[in-house]
Amino acid sequence: YYRRSWSSESSDSVISSESCSNCYRVVLIGEQGVGKSSLANIFAGVHDSIDSDCEVLGDTYERTLMVDGESATIVLLDMWDNKREGEWIRDHCMKVGDAYLIVYSITDRASFEKASELRIQLRRARQKEDIPIILVGNKSDLVRCREVSVAEGRACAVVFDCKFIETSAAVQHNVKELFEGIVRQVRLRRDSKEK
Ligand code: GDP
Ligand code: MG
Repeated sequence: YYRRSWSSESSDSVISSESCSNCYRVVLIGEQGVGKSSLANIFAGVHDSIDSDCEVLGDTYERTLMVDGESATIVLLDMWDNKREGEWIRDHCMKVGDAYLIVYSITDRASFEKASELRIQLRRARQKEDIPIILVGNKSDLVRCREVSVAEGRACAVVFDCKFIETSAAVQHNVKELFEGIVRQVRLRRDSKEK
């Protein structure tokens, strides 16, 4: 059902006439409380009154961004903590993403350790696939409560062969860069396949 709106009477006819080669399904995963929904809300433009042409379907958000002069539609899934639906939701999440944002809180070491576990699970679920992943250290505004250093986050990303960024949903730092970054990661892989 994520695809529903892609073919519907979207206000942006350019996007709907394309064969969705520029649509990416990006999945937020990480421990509860790290800020996934807060990041999703910023993505959805909840906080900006002018530019909020985002479609919301439950815990799925769709928005088109311009990145490096080329448009990209991100369908963002924030359903990892939805336990009402049972465990299948997590299996589903592990299967359907074109790209993943593994989020932890820099103020919570357990969430950082959880992020490593999730990276391993993801690798297991999607063996052989080179999936774009960004490791996201959120809550960077909470400097006095920091439990995970920038260096540790970066080192972890090196081990996991993925990108790394620290964000703050609270003060909206690096959030735009995060979503642009994941588009670039998907494109890098797409472009290297075309060669
Ligand atoms: P989720 O469970 O991963 O979806 O996390 P939420 O987005 O619901 O956030 C959990 C709590 O952390 C909420 O009280 C948020 O206001 C708070 N929070 C989220 N991101 C940040 C951040 O960047 N900085 C600070 N200080 N608080 C944050
Ligand atoms: Mg949430």
